[in-house]
Amino acid sequence: MSETIFSKIIEGSIPSQKVFENERIYAFHDIQPAAPVHVLIVPKKPIPSLNEIEQDDLAVIGEIHQVAVRLAQELGIAESGYRVINNCGSDGGQTVSHLHFHLLGGTKLGALTGISGSHE
Ligand code: AMP
Repeated sequence: MSETIFSKIIEGSIPSQKVFENERIYAFHDIQPAAPVHVLIVPKKPIPSLNEIEQDDLAVIGEIHQVAVRLAQELGIAESGYRVINNCGSDGGQTVSHLHFHLLGGTKLGALTGISGSHE
């Protein structure tokens, strides 16, 4: 499996603004924030995308959502509201092939139309 930028961030060879870490999960501020709060929550296991999750990965994916709630509280957006998003594959907008979830908030987020161009 090829190493992505997120593996290098997790191992510390590329710097990041870390907000959470345990044995299974690493979370850090997105370098190009799409909202006032934009955190990436990443399993340390380099699962390429949601398409490749296995039975053994279900616990960490649940835990990632628990971490999202905790970070939303710590970053002051739990009450105002937030969005947790996974982009899967090319059409889904995934640019880094290491499973990750975006935690977005701190403003009124736009509608999720999911359509950026014309389609038939
Ligand atoms: P996605 O498009 O869902 O694959 O999300 C990848 C995200 O990683 C984008 O929002 C990028 O801004 C973010 N990103 C890429 N490189 C870095 C980095 N070195 N540090 C923090 N975030 C990054």
